[in-house]
Amino acid sequence: MNKTAIVTGISGQDGAYLSQLLLSKGYSVVGIVRSLEKYNSGKLVYLGIADQVIIEECHLENRERVMEIIQKHQPAEIYNLAAQSSVSVSFQKPTETMQFNIISVINLLEAIRTINPSIRFYQASSSEMFGKVNDLPITENSLLHPLSPYAISKVTGHQITINYRESYQLFACCGILFNHESYLRDNNFFFKKLLHGALDIYYGKKEELAFGNLDIKRDFGYSKDYVEAMWLMLQQNKPEEFLICSGTSITLRQLVEYVFEKLGIPKAKIIIDPNLFRPTEIEDIYGSNQKAMEVLHWKTESNFFNVVDKLLEEEKMNYEGKQ
Ligand code: NDP
Repeated sequence: MNKTAIVTGISGQDGAYLSQLLLSKGYSVVGIVRSLEKYNSGKLVYLGIADQVIIEECHLENRERVMEIIQKHQPAEIYNLAAQSSVSVSFQKPTETMQFNIISVINLLEAIRTINPSIRFYQASSSEMFGKVNDLPITENSLLHPLSPYAISKVTGHQITINYRESYQLFACCGILFNHESYLRDNNFFFKKLLHGALDIYYGKKEELAFGNLDIKRDFGYSKDYVEAMWLMLQQNKPEEFLICSGTSITLRQLVEYVFEKLGIPKAKIIIDPNLFRPTEIEDIYGSNQKAMEVLHWKTESNFFNVVDKLLEEEKMNYEGKQ
């Protein structure tokens, strides 16, 4: 019989690519959405899998409903990807970010503990949890020092997951993922804003593109590779934390200039807007993916500029298709 996997955050970038991967491996996939009425199936449609995923409406803050869904579908695995996932938005909506990103994790783990402790659980943790870093590269043992409401909510979800594993011997683990991108990333995130905005200039729809601090450095990767690591983590003999990253960082400026140059757009069209700076910012961060490569045998493209080439092509093709 097919295994069933529940994926929260199915309408997001990772939810879509993870569902595609799970379906290709023969799983039945149940996707959780907060509202059937407002649910946007666009990313699943783009991947051609919308009609293969069972969609359930469930507010993850509603513990009874979470229990009901798990009872009904009896999953072997649960991937918890739903989150208010924007650092910027978390500074504007700290209460909502904390409330949802923390309560949702507790409700899922409580449901697993009480209904079927053999269900395997994946929690989407984030490199933002490390925040103020002193030693690079980050490893699985680096200290957590979050610098935003989003990061604090992710630290809490992370520690609750470890606590449930240690207290109740659940197969619960956290993937600590660094920035990862794709065509399916939402437009309000830096990388997607860059590709889409640069094409707007290229096609004469916009004069310039405004950014916040471009001197910060981040470790970037490709979502499609990163969701594979999530699945691998739940196939191991024991639950553990893994850093999923490329192993190097690049400045946002390097990325912007690379894309502008590829499209032949002068750098003068890059505008720095101090209103887009965040109250606190991580200067530079990159991780070591050694453990993931050795234990999970996970591989990824280590040169992000190769990913940029591919994603710019995809963005351009879809942009032209919409004209
Ligand atoms: P997205 O922002 O693309 O997707 C987030 C998902 O969470 C969406 O399906 C969204 O649903 C859902 N969601 C948000 N708020 C709520 C809420 N209040 N109630 C119910 N559902 C909600 O994120 P990604 O796919 O990029 O990331 C997946 C996970 O990985 C997230 O938890 C993120 O924090 C984490 N992560 C991501 C990284 C990245 O670089 N992408 C790096 C490290 C961690 P809706 O469509 O209804 O808004």
